[in-house]
Order: sequence, then C-alpha cells, then structure tokens
Amino acid sequence: MTASEIRRQFLEFFKSKGHHVVPSAPIVVKNDPTLLFTNAGMNQFKDYFLGNQTPAWSRVADTQKCLRVSGKHNDLEEVGIDTYHHTMFEMLGNWSFGDYFKEEAIAWSWELLTEVYKLPKDRLYVTVFEGDKKENLAKDQEAYDFWKKHISEDRILLGNKKDNFWEMGDTGPCGPCSEIHVDCRPDEERKLVDGATLVNKDNPQVIEIWNNVFMQFNRLKDKSLEPLPAKHVDTGMGFERLVRVIQGKFSNYDTDVFSGTIAFIEQLTGAKYEATDSKKDVTFRVLADHIRAICFTIADDQLPSNTGAGYVIRRILRRAVRYYFTYLDYKKPLLHELVPVLAQQFETVFPELQKQVDFVKKVIFEEENNFLRTLDSGIRRIEDIMVANNATKSIDGKTAFELLDTYGFPFDLTNLIASERGYSVDEKGFEAAMKEQKDRSRAATELDMGDWTILEESGTTFVGYSLDTTQTKVTKYRKIK
Ligand code: ATP
Ligand code: MG
Ligand code: MG
Ligand code: MG
Repeated sequence: MTASEIRRQFLEFFKSKGHHVVPSAPIVVKNDPTLLFTNAGMNQFKDYFLGNQTPAWSRVADTQKCLRVSGKHNDLEEVGIDTYHHTMFEMLGNWSFGDYFKEEAIAWSWELLTEVYKLPKDRLYVTVFEGDKKENLAKDQEAYDFWKKHISEDRILLGNKKDNFWEMGDTGPCGPCSEIHVDCRPDEERKLVDGATLVNKDNPQVIEIWNNVFMQFNRLKDKSLEPLPAKHVDTGMGFERLVRVIQGKFSNYDTDVFSGTIAFIEQLTGAKYEATDSKKDVTFRVLADHIRAICFTIADDQLPSNTGAGYVIRRILRRAVRYYFTYLDYKKPLLHELVPVLAQQFETVFPELQKQVDFVKKVIFEEENNFLRTLDSGIRRIEDIMVANNATKSIDGKTAFELLDTYGFPFDLTNLIASERGYSVDEKGFEAAMKEQKDRSRAATELDMGDWTILEESGTTFVGYSLDTTQTKVTKYRKIK
C-alpha cells in the first residue's frame, strides 16, 4: 500500500463513521501567543475544547502538518539520529467535540488498525493512564475496560503522567490518554525479549503510533486543572510511522514518504544512502527531514528571519547546510534543489507548496547561499577554539555569541558541532552576551528593524528584505503567487 493510499483510507474510514474531513491548518500559528507552530492536530480546535467557539461539525478528521522543534514538544535533537522523530510530520486525527467518547474512539482505532490496515494483533500494545496522586487524578479504568473488549490484558500497560496525560503546552486543553504501540522487531528477537518491556523505552523498533486523548481539563497559568465544559476526543497518529509499520520497513526513511527525496540527494551528490548510523547517513535523514519543515513553513508564509518563528526556520536550515557541507562534502547550495520533488509529491495533499514552488526555492537558495559564505571560516574558527580549549572541553558563552555574530552560527549549531567532539557550550553565558549586545544596540537606536519588512503588497506581489545575522548582505525577495 502506498503512503497516499494509507492516508486516503484513514480519512475514508472516519468519513464512514460520520466525520467531516477538514483541511490541515497552517503549520505556522499566527494568533496564539502560547504557540509558534502547530504541534498537534488539535491546535486548530483549541477554542472548541475551551467552549469559546461552537464547531460546525461534532465529528471531524484530517491530516495536519505539524512541527516539533520548539516549546513543550521539541524533537529536533532526535531527528536524523533516530528513524522515527521528524521536525515536520503529518498527524492523522479524528475528533469528537462533545459527541462520542472513550468507547467509540477505542473501538474505531482498533478496527482501523486491525481490520482495514490488517496490522497483526500480536504486535500491538496499548497504554492507559495509571492516575497521579499529586494532581488528584484517578486511573483511567473506563479506558482500561473498553480496551479489554478488544485485546488481552497482558497487552494493556499502565503509564504515568509523562506518557499518558497529554498536554498541548504549559497551559491549555489536556487530559488522560491511551496510546497504541507496535512491536516491529523480527520474530526471533520478539521471542527473546517481551515487547511489553520495550514500550516507551526509545527502542526504534517498538514505536508509538497513535495517541487517543480524552480531553477533560484545561491547564491554567497557576498550573491547576479545571474541568472543560464538555468531554471530547482528540486523536493523533504519526502518518510517517504508520506508513513504515504498514509497509514493513526498518525506518520511516525507507518508506515512499522519503525515498524520492533521498534518491534525489543521491543523484545530486553522488553519495549513497545506506541506512546506517554513520554521519553520512544521518545527513541524508536530516536533509530529507529538514527540507520538509523548511518548505512547508515558508509555503505557509513564514520566512526565515532573525526572530521568533522565522529564526526557528533559519536554525533548521543552517543545521541542514552544515550537515551536507561537512558530511557529504557538498559545498554548493543543495536544499533548494529538493523543493520541486516535494512540491510534486504533495501536490494533491498540500497544494500550497506547488503553487509557490519557485518562490520557496528562491528563498531557500538565498538563505543557503548567504550561510555558505561564512560557514567555512566559521567551522575553521570553531576548530581553533576547540583546540585552544582542549583542557576544559568547553566553549564559553561569549565565544558562542561571537560565532553567531560573525559567522551566523545559531547556538544549537555551535552546540551540535561542539557535542560531536565531546565539548560543552555555556548557554547561559551565550544568552547573557546576546542580551548585552541587544541592550547596546537598543541604546544606540530606538529603531527596531524587523527582519522582514513588507515594502509593497499589491495583489499578487510582495517584496521583503532579510537581514542576515552575519550582516554581510541584505537580500531582497519577491513573492509571486
Ligand atoms: P514520542 O513519545 O514518540 O515522542 P509523543 O508521545 O511525543 O511521541 P504525541 O504527542 O502523543 O507524541 O503525538 C501523537 C502521535 O504523533 C504519536 O503517537 C506519534 O505517532 C506522532 N509523533 C509525535 N512526535 C512525532 C515526531 N517528532 N515525528 C513523527 N511523528 C511524531
Ligand atoms: Mg515526543
Ligand atoms: Mg510518547
Ligand atoms: Mg504520545
């Protein structure tokens, strides 16, 4: 079954259960001070849960573009190193707004996985919230009893607040959850070690695929929980993980979600992806992953910049550039070449990328080009610093700031390069140095220059400027829809 077929079947299944299929919300969140990017399918429905808005449909389903690189859910450091955490991923979801609750949600997720997708039952485990004394929350006995109708009790595991009480952010809707995990190990290994002991233990072959959240509370600023006006179901299934399980692959990157991009990188660079833990193969995974985050955020109107959401994208992009520069020994802009491959792949699911393919390509090319101008000397500088600091195996905050200011190395990139060699970087010192410089420049001028100033917006065209951290050049972009 191809990835598109798998996505289609999910939506068809929930349509047949009375759900209205809605489009993905943008991956960039513009009107919520608690969130920069969509990190779960439920974000766009937050006001329905809180009772601030009435939904047009009480049952909906969709596939949502998500990004987990900042805030409460941040997976950036795992990406490419492991084979199942992405920056940008699709979250398939079904929702009940004050309509059905635990019984139907559990029965339908089981039906879809075992009857439609035909996943073997003896490879599935489910988890249920065990309760939490401090929060005065009881064990989710209801969910446990509904699961018992479908699966034997030795496959129902109890989980703590960290894994089985889902929260969107520091505040907002939340509730106990029940997850489905799949043991993808070969039979011989399964005989030796019981799969139940590997659930939620970061084993790359025993992975979580679906979370059914039973939304019952709102987390307030003072950390207390208040009951929501009604009870809801909010589910999220990682699409790329589901595809990997159904296609029987070893890693998400071996599925047809990523194989086109990987083949194209092979063609461009002459290197070969061999699915190992080598730095070269990590690079392939990082590139195939990061280009999606970069493309889909830009296509949703968030340009790379030096602040806020724009800076998150610039950081992801520079991280990717450093990976190919160092580990594929590729010294020219590469990422922008991948844009058309993705645009075509997602043409019918997320058409916004194909519609702006030339613009997105141009923005990425400019960003890569700018960073490549200082990357080589920046790498040489950090090498010298590490040699000089060999005794302490550390880089102080001021030096980390100098790497940003002069060479455009975001903190996390300096940290990544340093940690690959066993060095640590003083983050607090870095922040202090950055604040000091900000205070200085604020005193020097009251003028706050945004990175992207819309100079002209008329019908189909706008022109903006990006001021690179390296301050070497001001780039002008033109967007034509
Ligand atoms: P994990 O424990 O693997 O980090 P999670 O518990 O943080 O996942 P949830 O918040 O429950 O994930 O999100 C629902 C589903 O989304 C997960 O069951 C998983 O299939 C998928 N998912 C979560 N994070 C990622 C990611 N970074 N990349 C790809 N899929 C993800
Ligand atoms: Mg996680
Ligand atoms: Mg989890
Ligand atoms: Mg989870």
